[in-house]
Amino acid sequence: MPPLNDEAIVLRTTDFSETSMVVTFFTRENGKVTCLAKGARRLKNPFDTSLDAMNICRILYYPKIGDVLQLVTEAKLTERFRVDSTTAIYAGFHVVQLLNHFTENFNPQSALFDLTKNVLKDILLLDSICRTSSLDNPPEKLSRCLFHYELRLMSLSGLAPSFHECVGCSEKVEIRRGARRVAFGMRDGGVLCPRCRPGRMNVVSLSPEALGAFQLLASADERYWRRLQLSQKTLGEIRGLWNQYLAYQMERPVPILHWLKR
Ligand SMILES: [Zn+2]
Repeated sequence: MPPLNDEAIVLRTTDFSETSMVVTFFTRENGKVTCLAKGARRLKNPFDTSLDAMNICRILYYPKIGDVLQLVTEAKLTERFRVDSTTAIYAGFHVVQLLNHFTENFNPQSALFDLTKNVLKDILLLDSICRTSSLDNPPEKLSRCLFHYELRLMSLSGLAPSFHECVGCSEKVEIRRGARRVAFGMRDGGVLCPRCRPGRMNVVSLSPEALGAFQLLASADERYWRRLQLSQKTLGEIRGLWNQYLAYQMERPVPILHWLKR
């Protein structure tokens, strides 16, 4: 098979031998690929410094469908993920770890590629304001970008919960002024109307503000979530529920999520 030239995001790297590395990429045209990068650990190597997590590069690789490892022979850096704040680094790792978890080898998802490229760009732009904030209190703007990313990632993976219609009967769940809390079924994957609520397991409740925030953050239309301004209280509430939902979908505890309290 001839080599493929593809735009790629570096998800993770592990040392393979004294001179080589195994690199997991998420490529635009072919989805996730795991490659052997021969000589990548040598001082002088053909990859230079492009193979760091969250970097975006153009790679040349030889696909061997069915094999676990492909062979990458070139990587040219197009966008370096260079940030100074710990919060921004954590945010970047958070993004690539989730992406790695919810994607499969050779399953092209170009919309997900573009979404990830955009959120990494957002994190780079927010690095300067992250420098003045602490790790457990990230800037509101960063929290919003990460929420939008996570919600869209789940949506593009077919795992998004329903925030608009009851998962039991498809009735529209309206948020009215002075409305009471709304039931959310972790196992059912979405909101439940008062008629469908009884007898369900693993149900938590959401304030109307939190439900409204989820609905806007999950929108693919930038106008809905970029202009939002969320209170600490709402951010804390939606992060609590969302981390539980993600852990549920990932079927195991998620260490990377512990730092995100809002
Ligand atoms: Zn219902």
